Amino acid sequence: MKLIISLLLSFLLATLGYVKKALTPPALILAFIFACIITYFGGVSSFLMLATVFLLTIIAGKIKKEERKNKIKDLHQKGHQKDVPSIIANVAPGTLCLILYGLTNNAYLLVVYATLMAEAISDSLASDIGILSSKPPINILTLKRSTPGLSGNISLLGIFASFIGSLIIALIYLIFNHNIFNFLIITICGTLGNLIDSFLGALVQAKYECPTCHIITEKTEHCATKTKKIAGIDFLNNDVVNITSNIISGLLCYLILIAYFSK
Ligand SMILES: [Zn+2]
Repeated sequence: MKLIISLLLSFLLATLGYVKKALTPPALILAFIFACIITYFGGVSSFLMLATVFLLTIIAGKIKKEERKNKIKDLHQKGHQKDVPSIIANVAPGTLCLILYGLTNNAYLLVVYATLMAEAISDSLASDIGILSSKPPINILTLKRSTPGLSGNISLLGIFASFIGSLIIALIYLIFNHNIFNFLIITICGTLGNLIDSFLGALVQAKYECPTCHIITEKTEHCATKTKKIAGIDFLNNDVVNITSNIISGLLCYLILIAYFSK
């Protein structure tokens, strides 16, 4: 029975992703598999969190689409459709966490899973909504004004959107589990995880300069010429930064739970 429900719910979610063209075909298959595992081990509440992350990501992507497109067209390597690395970065840690939960029955892992989902949606809302900020963002490391759309940027609007994202996931947890303390941890660790993401993005993510028009970008090509690297490490792209900050937020949540409940 559990298996049938998991397959059914995951199929619904995948169909939505297909209709909305939110994912590339291989990413869609992978997302379906992850959704099955998540629902099978974590139950309906875990599925709802995943579905919320998915829905909010799609909705956020639709708000002022043209304005965003214009702001990032020169800056980002990838398009808006989620590909396999991006699904792995956002959903694999949560999936692994619930497999561990299935094996150990350790209820902390359900809180960690919620935090991982909270961080994932916080990150995508911070980038998709934050870029619409009317004020230019600042770089989290230098605290200087930066080009909208570059990794490592923060804006008040982005931080607020990221907080709301974590809050929504934490609320789903609260409805099913009635635990205010865990609710707070999920909200805080999810939002913090997003700031860690910006911090890592500013610190290590590769940035390039176009030799022709001198724009700072994350693209390796611009104005039909190869861009020159000016900062960061080549293979540390957005997906690597995302999965790292996702895992850090989950570990942080787990450590807080252990520290608090071992007193
Ligand atoms: Zn250029």
